[in-house]
Amino acid sequence: MRCFLTYLLLFVSFLSYGQIQVDTSFEGANAQIFRIDNDRNEILFRPALKSNQTTRCWFYFKAWGFKKNEHLKITELNDSRNLIPTYAVYSFDNKHWHKIKGKGLTDNIFKYSIPPYRHDTIYFAAGYPYTYSMLIHYISSIAKNPFLDTTTLTFSEHNLPIPLIVITDTSSHQDKDLVWITARQHAFETPANYCTEGIINFLISKDPMAQDIRKTTIIYIVPMVDVDNVYRGASGRMQKPVDFNRDWDNNPTWRAISEITNLMETTSEVYDFRIFMDIHATFPGTDSSVFAYFNIYDKDSPHYQNLRNFWLTFSSISPFIPSEVTDYSAKNYADRYVAMHYKYIDFVTTIECDWNNTDQGQPWTPVKWHELGEDIGQSIAIYLSKNK
Ligand SMILES: [Zn+2]
Repeated sequence: MRCFLTYLLLFVSFLSYGQIQVDTSFEGANAQIFRIDNDRNEILFRPALKSNQTTRCWFYFKAWGFKKNEHLKITELNDSRNLIPTYAVYSFDNKHWHKIKGKGLTDNIFKYSIPPYRHDTIYFAAGYPYTYSMLIHYISSIAKNPFLDTTTLTFSEHNLPIPLIVITDTSSHQDKDLVWITARQHAFETPANYCTEGIINFLISKDPMAQDIRKTTIIYIVPMVDVDNVYRGASGRMQKPVDFNRDWDNNPTWRAISEITNLMETTSEVYDFRIFMDIHATFPGTDSSVFAYFNIYDKDSPHYQNLRNFWLTFSSISPFIPSEVTDYSAKNYADRYVAMHYKYIDFVTTIECDWNNTDQGQPWTPVKWHELGEDIGQSIAIYLSKNK
């Protein structure tokens, strides 16, 4: 009997005080675990620096073995406030995500407290994940669209194919305008990919404006420039030897930038280059509730008028309110490079998606970023049809 009781006690204590386990070995995962406190049901971590990274702003891990009837406490340490997400996300199945607001204990220590939880496993990330595999899956889901051609731009330094998407109506043989869009030069900026999906979804849609724009325009899109760092779960920002968005010069370090600039050159010889957009996201810890566009032009230049016209068009059809940022870009940034090499282009702009809440106070989610992207796609169509 005593033996049975001992077993029972051991069994009960195993159930109540399981050992928390953490997995960071899957695609896109990242975390450096400092401490696991099974008694307090707490995981203490910080984002790991991978490869030649310098900025800790992406984490994504799986945990199990926690006490399900108590709050699970996840505490992040980081180097500065804006690197720590105001809202992190968690999921039991790695597909359906919930946002959770962190509480600052100090400027660089944040605690997220997950309510008692009926699932055995939790995934926890700095924001809605968007992995390389998700991009490949998205591309295969739209690949049958007759107005879309998907190819490989080139192979990354780690031999991953870098997808290139070209959208046009090939049955139309008139002289075409050219639009170039790049996204995810910074691997941690997952909102950029949801926004880019929205742009693509509009441009390949049955919307009459999309049908018209495909007859007169060819759109080149590289939706994930830094595939290697997305794949390995690195932040990408300010990495060594050079940040992707500081590599736009006449002799780029990265294959992706080299191939994009080469292809931009050859396509601009065939088509009339009109617009370049580079899609990014802010830091997950910024408390701004806006998305922003960058303006690199003097206010009295025709390019600025074009850029302004574009965003006025956008504001007339979209509930989202863009905010203008000036004086940030430098010579080897994508927008500045394209503006300097193609001075005749209508405008270039960098777009920064926000992570937290929209102007209407609603959480930014993949659905909202899709809507933002669709509105940007529609604005491209309206702008080009009005400004021939
Ligand atoms: Zn960026």
